[in-house]
Amino acid sequence: MGPPGAGKGTQAQRISEAYQLMHISTGDLLRGTIKDNSELGRKARVYMERGELVPDELVTALVRERLRAARRHRGFILDGYPRNQAQALALDEILAEEEIPLDLVVHFETPVEVVRDRLMGRRVCSSCGTNFHLKALPPSPNGRCSRCGGELMIRPDDQDQTVEQRIRVYEDFARPLVKFYRKKDLLHKVSGAQTAGDQYAELKRLFERKAK
Ligand code: AMP
Repeated sequence: MGPPGAGKGTQAQRISEAYQLMHISTGDLLRGTIKDNSELGRKARVYMERGELVPDELVTALVRERLRAARRHRGFILDGYPRNQAQALALDEILAEEEIPLDLVVHFETPVEVVRDRLMGRRVCSSCGTNFHLKALPPSPNGRCSRCGGELMIRPDDQDQTVEQRIRVYEDFARPLVKFYRKKDLLHKVSGAQTAGDQYAELKRLFERKAK
């Protein structure tokens, strides 16, 4: 959990590779449906361009399908879901049905100025989806993705107005889930203001402790 630009996507990708976990990013899944020009994609695009939440039933259906597949995997990282109370309850239900335990919820607590700066400098690979930042996490010197050589782009929802709306949506709908998961004794706080390298080191320590 955390506001846009907190580091969730970058860390979920790195950690899932390090521990062979399935990375389930609802943002990436939704962007995939837009790329495929599917009916779901055409519906989702309208909300995403406005920085609003895509309706719960559409996103939850995507997550349900992925979590079914995750049962055959070593584990999973859910990135960008749940984002409101209804999704958190839906997730509890899916996990109970599939008999998958939830071990940990990581909260990337991040000041709003850091979020704005991160999103302004963010560049994303149009081919593999890896995130970069012009200053803090620079891509290849040739200006292309350092993982796959793909072309970098600015995410359409990283424009000023949309960023402000996404921050508001996070505060209004997702932040209340901090309490929900604290009550379940699953929450671990990580500073989203640290560098990507420091976040990764902290998460690795946390995962090592959990794995024991
Ligand atoms: P993200 O890549 O996680 O920043 O998500 C980008 C956009 O996708 C969000 O601003 C929402 O419009 C949509 N989205 C991603 N995850 C969800 C979710 N769990 N519920 C509703 N909309 C979502």
